[in-house]
Amino acid sequence: PTMAHSKALLVLENFIGGKFVPCSSYIDSYNPSTGDVYCRVPDSGKEEVEAAVKAAKDAFPVWSSKSPLERSQILNKLADLIEHDLEAFAQAESKDQGKTITFARTVDIPRAVHNFRFFASSILHHVTECTEMPAMGCVHYTSRAPVGVAGLISPWNLPLYLLTWKIAPAIACGNTVVAKPSEMTSVTAWMMCKLLEKAGVPPGVVNVVFGTGAKAGEALVCHPDVPLISFTGSTLTAQRIAEKSAPHCKRLSLELGGKNPAIVFDDADLSQCIPTTVRSSFANQGEICLCTSRIFVQRGIYREFLKRFVAEAKKWKTGNPSDPAIDVGALISKEHLEKVRNYVKKAQAEGARVLCGEGVDPLALPPGNQKGYFMLPTVIAEVKDESCCMQEEIFGPVTCVVAFDTEEEVIKRANGVKYGLAATVWSSNVGRVHRVAHRLQSGLVWTNCWLVRDLNLPFGGMKASGIGREGAKDSYEFFTEVKTITIKH
Ligand code: NAD
Repeated sequence: PTMAHSKALLVLENFIGGKFVPCSSYIDSYNPSTGDVYCRVPDSGKEEVEAAVKAAKDAFPVWSSKSPLERSQILNKLADLIEHDLEAFAQAESKDQGKTITFARTVDIPRAVHNFRFFASSILHHVTECTEMPAMGCVHYTSRAPVGVAGLISPWNLPLYLLTWKIAPAIACGNTVVAKPSEMTSVTAWMMCKLLEKAGVPPGVVNVVFGTGAKAGEALVCHPDVPLISFTGSTLTAQRIAEKSAPHCKRLSLELGGKNPAIVFDDADLSQCIPTTVRSSFANQGEICLCTSRIFVQRGIYREFLKRFVAEAKKWKTGNPSDPAIDVGALISKEHLEKVRNYVKKAQAEGARVLCGEGVDPLALPPGNQKGYFMLPTVIAEVKDESCCMQEEIFGPVTCVVAFDTEEEVIKRANGVKYGLAATVWSSNVGRVHRVAHRLQSGLVWTNCWLVRDLNLPFGGMKASGIGREGAKDSYEFFTEVKTITIKH
């Protein structure tokens, strides 16, 4: 079903075995920039997951025996179809998630397209291993095969971007999938389902069940015929997934939260560092797992940095996400906005200084957005390292700036959190950037830049930020089962 008239709600359906199927109950989905319910999402549970897993199991023998080239051509076709509808996808993602139309147009949807093209290409270039043991008269080689039905669970911050980052490698390797997007941002996944048949994806290869984590997500995690789960989301949910899948010994890939430091040495090029660090703090309303939320600045340049950083942050315009001139859209939900605001309140109560944003500057919103979940980019200084604002993932437009003296000290403080996802280091001393990068407990370290990615290389976190890595080779290894074969001649 589509919208009957402009006021009618958009109603999504599950996509199982190549068909859209209605669900017996639904949940409301909000437009974060207006606060209105505008969409109804299936509230799937065990029954729907069961049907989807069955469809995926049935589709596996044929799909898994296709050649990588055949699968690659289908992935490329799907990429073309999404790209053809890029504007419609971008509008939908912005409305559903609250992100700016500019971000959806330039980051989310182009990356979803690229995910399919990237794995369509990389799947053609893997080689397996071979060793010889002449003294034993033996040769060994490895062979890789798809695992089966993959369960894919994704979060709300980069909806189609992160879901396709899992679907593409899973099906490129010959698995079939049951995907469960976040119940808060399901629309673009549903739109993608409409293109699968035309792309040539056989029925049952990609199934999507919509619903909550507790019901639909958990049914997928607990299903005995789903041997692997690829999850991106919070550390708390990952703990629950690990627990629930333990009795089945499932293979897990867990991409989780972060509390990412930026370390700014006194020889940094501030003309590059400041705009990039404002972007790394506030892009997508700070709702990216890679966003900077602790900025350590060497004492000699601390005052100058703060002054310039706050001035730059104040340039970011908050408002209606569909306006291309806007830099900061709405946060995902009312509850999340409250949670993020509370962190700012706690910091103030502890004696920290809020230099701009929440509670300090006025937030003027257009009439249609008064009930939306907006918040200004907020910079906090003089926060103690042990404060919850320096320890916990806030996942909103809030960043803390603190001073440090020595390299040794800052490494220790940067590592002094439970997370280890991404870090940035700013310095013009080449020896120092290598030294510091090696000692940071972080799956990704960017020096003198942020979010420059080569999808060939491993992506993922250390410590509470995750288990496993994703990337050309890493995703191939995760989504295939390897066997070592020995031949005596
Ligand atoms: P979340 O953990 O609440 O939800 C993620 C997904 O898991 C959703 O689809 C949700 O419905 C589902 N889920 C919830 N409970 C479940 C359960 N018991 N069993 C199975 N599935 C369940 O996370 P979120 O709030 O949607 O996303 C924000 C989090 O994601 C942040 O912590 C962020 O850092 C993290 N994230 C990490 C990466 C990364 O690559 N490392 C990328 C983006 C977001």
